[in-house]
Amino acid sequence: MGPFQYRGNELFCEDVALTKIADEVGTPVYVYSRSDIERAYKAFDAALDGIPHEVCYAVKANSTLGVLGVLVQLGAGADIVSIGELYRWLRAGGDPDGVIFSGVGKTAAEMKTALDAGIGCFNVESGEELLALDKVAQENGKRAKISIRVNPDVDPQTHPYISTGLKQNKFGVSMAEARQLFRDAANSKGLAVAGVDFHIGSQLTKTSPFTDAIARLVDLVQQLAKDGIKLEHVDIGGGLGIDYGKGDGLPPSPAEYGVAVRAALAPLIDLGIKLVTEPGRVIVGQAGALITRVLYRKRNEAKHFTIVDGAMNDLMRPTLYSAYHPMKPVTNPDRPAQATDVVGPICETGDFFARDRELPALDAGELLWIGAAGAYGSAMASNYNTRPRAPEVLVSGSSYTVIRARETYEQLVANEKLV
Ligand SMILES: *Cc1c(COP(=O)(O)O)cnc(C)c1O
Repeated sequence: MGPFQYRGNELFCEDVALTKIADEVGTPVYVYSRSDIERAYKAFDAALDGIPHEVCYAVKANSTLGVLGVLVQLGAGADIVSIGELYRWLRAGGDPDGVIFSGVGKTAAEMKTALDAGIGCFNVESGEELLALDKVAQENGKRAKISIRVNPDVDPQTHPYISTGLKQNKFGVSMAEARQLFRDAANSKGLAVAGVDFHIGSQLTKTSPFTDAIARLVDLVQQLAKDGIKLEHVDIGGGLGIDYGKGDGLPPSPAEYGVAVRAALAPLIDLGIKLVTEPGRVIVGQAGALITRVLYRKRNEAKHFTIVDGAMNDLMRPTLYSAYHPMKPVTNPDRPAQATDVVGPICETGDFFARDRELPALDAGELLWIGAAGAYGSAMASNYNTRPRAPEVLVSGSSYTVIRARETYEQLVANEKLV
């Protein structure tokens, strides 16, 4: 049972009616269930029970302070891809030691900031980056803990924009190059070899890409042992998918993922190597929804349109990835359905949430629930068309907190200047 359930004819998040939040905070609005974030984190963590492991939440999936605070309290570490995300994690009370810094384009200034903050590990993605980090560390009298990100060249069978572990992708280095980079790092003065990592893509719906990639990692770790390089951890990234309700098969549960990962990693666990993971979507995805109000309906020769007050700037996944999100009326779900395009007010044909969706016919003024929007929803929001970003609300039991207020027009122009 998800956190959004009908009671009578009304959709609730935990014990709070969504109509109440919409009336009090306005629409569009993101609503998150605290208990569902906790459930998802604990399920993922429990799936790896019995092997030494660390769950480093991928901050980019949802980086709102109030959400990060929940993960800090659960004891999560963090996978960051920018210094901005490090700033947020520390502001939320996160421990720098539990932070892993990923990404292909870290600047020298970012490396220095992260070193000064005392982060746990840098996931290095190229030979040039390795040299740059060695230099920055030496200049600052430090040793940077590093992991080399390898590109295992496995097909994650997901949307091309979120496939990252194929050799044509910009991420990581080849297995052969990694072996050389590990030797370079081991001989450097500014680096300390800690681990090896991969992240092969997002919204994976099978365990085989993970286990194929782990098999290649196991080979590499065994080769490195022959080179006299001993690793403390292997990091298998994030990427586990969630159910978007499309009805085209369920992704593996965290428990199934845990069983598969454990079996594939068995040769390394005996060596006392710790497992690090970087899940994002699977932790926060199902916990969140975008609530939007219907403004108008219209029909032309070809289509029926439902025009809502949320838009692609609030939730860009349908536009960017042709992603499917589940939708329900917030009140009175039992009524005849009709095929409709759910669209926003933005001046782009790409501004849609769904096309030809069979939905109970909604009247103007009614509320629509767009589910599974906790990950890569608010985090990807923009101000396109000078639309203030939507507020975000965290529900806990029968109460809720506005964890991010709706932006004001004044804030939108605060850094601008007339000439
Ligand atoms: C995006 C990303 C993740 C998280 O991916 P999910 O699919 O949200 O689990 C983890 N690690 C890295 C390096 C990433 O870029």
